[in-house]
Amino acid sequence: MRPDILSMYEEELAEYIVSIGEERYRAKQLYKWLHAGYPLAFMSNIPKKMKEKLVERALIPSVTVETKQVSSDGTIKYLFRCYDDEYIESVFMRHDYGNTVCVSSQVGCRMGCKFCASTINGRKRNLFASEMLSQIYEAQNDTGEKVSNVVIMGMGEPFDNYDNVVRFIRLLNSESGMNLSCRRISLSTCGIVPGIQRFADEGLPVTLSVSLHAPDDDKRNAIMPVNKKYCIAELLAACRGYYEKTGRRISFEYALIDGNNNSPEDAQALADLLKKGLSDTVIHVNLIPVNDVAERGFKRGSKAKTEKFVSVLERNGVNATVRKRMGADIDAACGQLRARKI
Ligand code: SAH
Repeated sequence: MRPDILSMYEEELAEYIVSIGEERYRAKQLYKWLHAGYPLAFMSNIPKKMKEKLVERALIPSVTVETKQVSSDGTIKYLFRCYDDEYIESVFMRHDYGNTVCVSSQVGCRMGCKFCASTINGRKRNLFASEMLSQIYEAQNDTGEKVSNVVIMGMGEPFDNYDNVVRFIRLLNSESGMNLSCRRISLSTCGIVPGIQRFADEGLPVTLSVSLHAPDDDKRNAIMPVNKKYCIAELLAACRGYYEKTGRRISFEYALIDGNNNSPEDAQALADLLKKGLSDTVIHVNLIPVNDVAERGFKRGSKAKTEKFVSVLERNGVNATVRKRMGADIDAACGQLRARKI
């Protein structure tokens, strides 16, 4: 593959520019254009000769809009096509604190969570840092609006593509790039313990979301195969370590599946588990009424059951909210657009 210039740090780009016989100072200009989301043709202060050289020798693996669905609440769900004709999904959401893009980190996923559509055909390949950035840049180009928050919660398991994801976050963070603070970035993992431990030492205080979805190992084993490798006790210990090193509150995602994990007893077990495992850690539980997966017979429970679940957590002093449903009138569940396309 030709060198991917959109995945390069500014210093790497400078070295590359010099290696193709151009002047070093051009790297800053090029970097700024690339990370403002512009194609080569628009880069007015870059010489034509240099552009021709780049077209011939380098690659900018950006994504292009294949289809999009716009919800009545303003949420946009994109199906993007990659340079090699693979498809990925991203979601653009408008909140009162700014616009958020939910970014995919892999084409498909190999984690096998039973309720998730992204994993049905396994993992096709990892995404490059450039392709993760490009999801944001293309959403900005398409809407004409700035993105102020990024959540790595789309298709794929970010810690199964560790190096590219960390590179992506550093590029997002870079001064001549989007200059996005880590406080505006969240990463969601299904619970790959060594990934959490390593990420805690990167010096990137990103908000960590952990997909827990069950109050004990038996229930979690049944819906999330990753739990057989890293059990809940190990997972919570890694979360505590992450909190101690970064000072960032840990967020737990819990998809409420009717008749599976949404009873008051489940709520009590969850509260006991979190209080015991994370006594000195600031946490938050994000309850998500599961997006129905007809093939598996998973359905969301009634509103009353959800409210009861919240009240049990609250009574136990566990901070919890029910996630606001965005784009309820479009296919909001992970991986559904791509699944239909392929
Ligand atoms: N691999 C990462 C991030 C991708 S999924 C992770 O597992 O966290 C983003 C979130 O959506 C996860 O919490 C995931 O468990 C959840 N999710 C997947 N399918 C869902 C469904 N049908 N209903 C509700 N949440 C779902």
